[in-house]
Amino acid sequence: MKFKVIYFLAIISISLFSCQDRSSEKGNRSSNPEWAIVVHGGAGNITPKRIPPAKEQEYKDKLTEALEAGAKILDSGGPSLDAVEAAIMIMEDCELFNAGKGAVFNANGINELDASIMDGQTLDAGAVASVTTIRHPISAARMVMEKSKHVMLVKEGAEKFAERKGLEIVDPSYFFTERRWESLQKAKKREQGKKKDKTKKSGTVGCVALDRNGNLAAGTSTGGMTNKKYGRVGDSPIIGAGTYANNNSCAVSGTGHGEFFIRNVVAYDISARMLYNGETLEQASNKVINHILKGQNANGGVIAIDKNGNISMPFNTPGMFRGSHKSGGRPEVFIFE
Ligand code: ASP
Repeated sequence: MKFKVIYFLAIISISLFSCQDRSSEKGNRSSNPEWAIVVHGGAGNITPKRIPPAKEQEYKDKLTEALEAGAKILDSGGPSLDAVEAAIMIMEDCELFNAGKGAVFNANGINELDASIMDGQTLDAGAVASVTTIRHPISAARMVMEKSKHVMLVKEGAEKFAERKGLEIVDPSYFFTERRWESLQKAKKREQGKKKDKTKKSGTVGCVALDRNGNLAAGTSTGGMTNKKYGRVGDSPIIGAGTYANNNSCAVSGTGHGEFFIRNVVAYDISARMLYNGETLEQASNKVINHILKGQNANGGVIAIDKNGNISMPFNTPGMFRGSHKSGGRPEVFIFE
């Protein structure tokens, strides 16, 4: 009997110690978290040479601030949709990123903004495209989802709707930044010289989250691509291309060459691969980014989270501004490979 008790206690303590070991080793990657959040600030030709250490710190601080804002909501039991919107709003207000204030210019010298959001529990979705006066396009996308019968509103229609719903409207000049204006001038010069545009750097922002109730949500916000044609809409506001969420599979937000993300229905394909092929989140997102898109010479990456809180952040570019935070862990942010 005594031997049995000692044996039993020994087994319990061995398994307890091994659990502790594993969770501390895995840090933010611990499995089955109660909540989790992931953000991105764009993928592209982001190398240590192009981002001096002081700038690198600025990016990391902002990504951390966005993660912490979302984490606070999730930790207190709030919905993943609130966390996604809050994190993206912070990045929309920051000039470092190509979304909201800091958005790139189109060929006509206008900042045309796109955004979308999706609720993985209900499959409800909302989006706005080509808007020029809404300070927080992500909130307008959420308004379209929750306060209209539609999924997407564009241009003045979206702007009037946002104004009527009480969102903050700004003069288009609010979105002007010297840095993005210079990028447009450089892109135009390159175009005249018929040289390949090497200035393409991203900065689109996105967020995916899992809340304590097991609900997934995804959102993306962008200024699109520098020197894009007037009226061009990319993947970010297209549900299934740049944004997708389904409680049965995963939540995804993408960044990269939008035309390819639309043609390959990137965000939905990752979810479909999990549901129909039985692929894991890691397998599905890697296949789409590092095989399918890469095979087409299409640049980009995604952040993705599944219903169990597993996280995947693949990209086929030199860098992607990104970070994650899980319950019981702390925010972790990365830029380069
Ligand atoms: N996907 C965005 C677009 O094509 C741009 C980006 O993520 O860099 O509009």
